[in-house]
Amino acid sequence: MIPIITTLPLLQMASGDRLFLQVYKFIGTKPGRKVYLQSNLHGAELTGNAVIHQLMQWLGSLEPTQLAGEIWLVPLCNPLGTNTRSHHFSPGRFDAYSGENWNRIFWEYQPNVEDLTAFAQSQMECDRPTIEQNYRDRMWASFEKLAAPLKAPSGQPFCDHYRFLLQSLCLDAHYVIDLHTSSDQGLTYLYYFRNRQTSARLFMLPLGILLDEYAGGAFDEAFIKPWLALEDCFAQLGRKIQFEIEAWTLELGSAMQIDAGTVDRGVQAVKNYLLQKGILRVPAAPTPMPSIATMKLVASSQMKKYYAPMGGMVQARVALGKTVEAGQRLYQILSFNKGLNQGSETEQMPTVLDICAEQSGIVYDVSINHAVNQGEYVLGIL
Ligand SMILES: [Zn+2]
Repeated sequence: MIPIITTLPLLQMASGDRLFLQVYKFIGTKPGRKVYLQSNLHGAELTGNAVIHQLMQWLGSLEPTQLAGEIWLVPLCNPLGTNTRSHHFSPGRFDAYSGENWNRIFWEYQPNVEDLTAFAQSQMECDRPTIEQNYRDRMWASFEKLAAPLKAPSGQPFCDHYRFLLQSLCLDAHYVIDLHTSSDQGLTYLYYFRNRQTSARLFMLPLGILLDEYAGGAFDEAFIKPWLALEDCFAQLGRKIQFEIEAWTLELGSAMQIDAGTVDRGVQAVKNYLLQKGILRVPAAPTPMPSIATMKLVASSQMKKYYAPMGGMVQARVALGKTVEAGQRLYQILSFNKGLNQGSETEQMPTVLDICAEQSGIVYDVSINHAVNQGEYVLGIL
């Protein structure tokens, strides 16, 4: 299969140079569902680019007859973020101009309760594909209203242009997969939404986190929440219905790195998902897949982040991936206390403070920088 490559102008810089998005579309000979994958929305989170490259190579080795539907791939989906530097570092999580988190800017279709209920009531006798299409039509009509202000003489901030372009690529998709990493050092896991735990296991990752608390404006949320709202509305009207529409955020290890093992895991995760969903039909994979049942599922509300209670140097920290018990030491802060009027000299000597776990769990994420100002993030446990 050879992809159709579409290059989309994204942004003209002050220097006159332009940034683009490039979309690789693999189109099967059989009709089917649309899969949308993107990577590097946060500029420092690189692993997904390598995952998409390997997926492209794999898809390139298949025939169009083996693909039902289409797969759209958008690596480097945020060139401005990817190119941002602070010396060696790619901060890339926030738009340096506006301060916005790149993954909190997305538009969500939110009909009011009366409109949603009226729509669901009007569809009670319809089959699922019809409802899906009718709802998509409404969503598109609402989305297209965002276009006019972008072209107006008064213009709009770049984030509004950016989200419009990115969401225009995926609004009609069935499956959206957003490839991230920690912005520090993290494990490999995914975020999923309610009632999608069976599909979550198809990624065969060790850990799945149910998003039972929403961040607001995240790419995966913006895509799936309108569908969850419609499912809820039907449930209240007494009809149980679940749309074959899913959104996933995969967290593939650490920022600013491309670790071969993590890339492999990401590739296997997406491949297995596409195969199990019937998007692709290939002879049995030569290497045995890990057991689907080994995925541990937990809720995002159980995630506990630890922030430095005082400024200093983080030392003796527990390793990423370790299981800790409540009360166990997580790390120490070595603080070179400075200040005037502290009474005795002993108060001005360096101190070492033990920070202990409030709850047991797995250390899923740790900060890269061991120097922390008071209140800075150190690690996360779930
Ligand atoms: Zn991210």
